[in-house]
Amino acid sequence: MQCPNGCLMPMEKTKEDKIFYRNNEPIVVTDLTMYVCPNCGQESMPLSSARLVEDVLNGKIKSAGKFIAEKYETSDIYA
Ligand SMILES: [Zn+2]
Repeated sequence: MQCPNGCLMPMEKTKEDKIFYRNNEPIVVTDLTMYVCPNCGQESMPLSSARLVEDVLNGKIKSAGKFIAEKYETSDIYA
């Protein structure tokens, strides 16, 4: 996968935990395959991961349990 910002280096495949919102409730998807540009840090979600997230958001994939974590709102900390 090529970086959308036009960097020459190929993007690196990585696994990430991502938070999404379903009906205003946060849900976490762990070990989601993502691509990260080693040059500029741009992240890109491959189609396979996008489909998986879509299935999760549509309730097609069974939950593996509850996820509870501390929440930090950064938007107004350094405003
Ligand atoms: Zn890049």
